[in-house]
Amino acid sequence: MDHFPIFIATKTARIIVAGGGDAALAKLRILMKSSAKITVFASDPAPEIEQWHHQNRLTLVTRAMDYGDALCAKLFYAASEDEVEDARTAHLAMTCGALVNIVDNLHDSQFITPAIVDRDPVTIAIGTEGAAPVLARAIKADLEERLPQSLGTLARIGKTFRDAANALPFGRPRRDFWRDYYFNTGPKAIGEGEAHILPALEALLDTHLTKPARAGHVAFVGGGPGDPELLTLKARRALDEADVVIYDRLITPEILELARREAVMVDVGKEGFGPSTPQEHINALLVEHAKTGAQVVRLKSGDATVFGRLDEEIDAVDAEGIGWHIVPGITSASAAVAAIGQSLTRRGRNASVRFLTGHDTRGFADHDWSALARTGEVAAIYMGKKSARFIQGRLLMHGADRHTPVTLVENASRPDQRVIETTLDVLPSALEAANLSGPALTFLGLAPRAALAALPTLKLEEFA
Ligand code: SAH
Repeated sequence: MDHFPIFIATKTARIIVAGGGDAALAKLRILMKSSAKITVFASDPAPEIEQWHHQNRLTLVTRAMDYGDALCAKLFYAASEDEVEDARTAHLAMTCGALVNIVDNLHDSQFITPAIVDRDPVTIAIGTEGAAPVLARAIKADLEERLPQSLGTLARIGKTFRDAANALPFGRPRRDFWRDYYFNTGPKAIGEGEAHILPALEALLDTHLTKPARAGHVAFVGGGPGDPELLTLKARRALDEADVVIYDRLITPEILELARREAVMVDVGKEGFGPSTPQEHINALLVEHAKTGAQVVRLKSGDATVFGRLDEEIDAVDAEGIGWHIVPGITSASAAVAAIGQSLTRRGRNASVRFLTGHDTRGFADHDWSALARTGEVAAIYMGKKSARFIQGRLLMHGADRHTPVTLVENASRPDQRVIETTLDVLPSALEAANLSGPALTFLGLAPRAALAALPTLKLEEFA
């Protein structure tokens, strides 16, 4: 982020604009929304500026800017549409200590003005650091459409009620009250007219003051394979409302970004065979936080019910009488099979599919190898990188065809997704050559669909 967004207090501030043409007009239209004292220096000002001057909305000085004119100014806009003149006035303003913006000159500007969605006092600023003004405008249009005009009124009246609402305990109870106001009671009351808002707020406060405190709760949320767009709406909402998020190593930063800003974020990342947070410690953390009344999100990769030691965590929470529920997620097998354009089951090929783990708490996991070795079987193997040689050995021993297709999908659904296509007989060397560093799902009995030529597939048949 080369430009950091802030909101500047304008109540007693002076803002100066040098220039009187179209560029100055565009800036002035947005600046006049603020409560700053605006002065314009222009020897040949547009009629609108003269009119605003007569309406006392700004002060117009009909000459070029000079030394000392920008004294005590907070912001300065060089908007004369003349490069040399802009450089001159910008220099004058800078020596007076003002922050300087030169219209259409990102490089020499000390700040930039964002695109704004105005629901005063709710103001949304959109910036692209000059990279994509078109994008900023599209986002603005989208927000303009989505945010009701009444939002500003609700916020303005809500602001006058802040002191009264402080009778509620800090944190969750206060947040619940305001959420109810802005998303439920407020919009309903405004439908009946602005005069209904304050009485509705008072009634709402009474309800909230007498309501018993909300109990702590744990949501076991499937965070999906990594792409934030593969989160369910329920998962998003849980993240948005969480007081505490306890998350695994495979949860991507893009997903963590979606958690409520004030939420306590606890990383309990477990590495395949590497250092890990002991399960008992995770269980204890869940209980500890929920007991304080917190809404806890236990965020697990993929689907929480697949190889996630979910039952142990549920048992721990249950034992303390804490409420919980599960929010399903997209398991990595689903994301990986989508990446290779195949389906997990197929009429005439396989009527069942197995989800296997390469290793369990005792080491390499044992399975019904003779069943898996049959032609046409499909298995999705989780945590199968280290156990590839073991699995290959067992399957061949039980008569599997050495040419059985095996496909690995690393980082399924993420920008760095890779597909490695190989066969059972060369699986270990193919894996070694591919040098995988991210999580990978191994499909036994599936090759990428031939039509998917566009896929970045590593062909590793040469190891045969
Ligand atoms: N509950 C998770 C699985 C946890 S076990 C789920 O439903 O997906 C961890 C294993 O999941 C990893 O070793 C890897 O085999 C698989 N995995 C998780 N995320 C993955 C991803 N984005 N791409 C490929 N495999 C992934």
